Amino acid sequence: MAESIAFVDNEFVPITEAKISIMEPTFTKSDVVYDTISSYRGYIFRLDDHLERFESSFRAMQLNPPYSLDEIRHIVAEMVIRSDFDNTCITLMATRGPFIDLANRDIRKCKNGLMAVCVPYYWVLGEDKQTTGVNMVITDNQRVPLEAIDAKVKNFNWMDLTRALLEAYDKGGDSAMLCTPDGYLSEGPGFNVWLAKNGKLYTPLGNLLEGVTRRSVFELAKEIGADPVEKPLTPEDLRTADEAFTSTTAGGITPVTQVDGKTLGNGAPGILTTRLMEEYWSRREEGWHGTRAEEILQDRDVA
Ligand code: PLP
Repeated sequence: MAESIAFVDNEFVPITEAKISIMEPTFTKSDVVYDTISSYRGYIFRLDDHLERFESSFRAMQLNPPYSLDEIRHIVAEMVIRSDFDNTCITLMATRGPFIDLANRDIRKCKNGLMAVCVPYYWVLGEDKQTTGVNMVITDNQRVPLEAIDAKVKNFNWMDLTRALLEAYDKGGDSAMLCTPDGYLSEGPGFNVWLAKNGKLYTPLGNLLEGVTRRSVFELAKEIGADPVEKPLTPEDLRTADEAFTSTTAGGITPVTQVDGKTLGNGAPGILTTRLMEEYWSRREEGWHGTRAEEILQDRDVA
């Protein structure tokens, strides 16, 4: 039977058995970086791009996971096979790990670790929103400045994103769009944002995670002649867009049909958005940028 799997302490275990110490800075200080990958119809999507981003995140925090990137690639493949779900999300976490001595809390002396989980594919904004679209609230809560936290390092320091999400829920929205301290659009809790105006596509530039799905949208948008551009964008640009959507591993492309409770465009998922959604999922089904877990494990058998 298919089941969610975790990899902790060098072992694959059912997710309910995966545990860490509550004394670890991994937990008490969110001292952990991560990356989330997906597999769809047997293909792991852009695995090397995710591993490259994961490596740059753990290096930025001086973390040294006890496995090479190639070993991590095998762990991902093994989890996809063992879990036996049709479609999955796999999260890799590079952890600070436990202190060797609780009386000496020097984070440089912690035993860094690697944990991973593999769960059924999920939709960060809800699968139903694929058809209805989301009501996106542009929040007063701001994205943390780059000088404090570099959003390109994929991290669990989510207080700004969580506060914005709570604000959005309080205002009747489905999710939140945060702005940078100087007032430009940045990103939301778990996704990048895009807008379309006069047939051209735009996405913010600044302190935000450079999403792997965002990169994929760039590729698809160029192919369909939508001329994607990365530039500073204002809340007004989003409010007056013809259409808008989000991009993320856990949910692909999701239409935005309302901003701050007001209808965007004609209130339905836009033409460009729908085209990109169709392209994204049909290509993923065909194995676009995909690697089969079995092939990765075969490599190991040969080596
Ligand atoms: N921005 C944030 C803050 C995220 O947490 C995520 C994904 O988790 C994204 C953007 C989208 O990135 P990706 O497309 O690589 O999933």
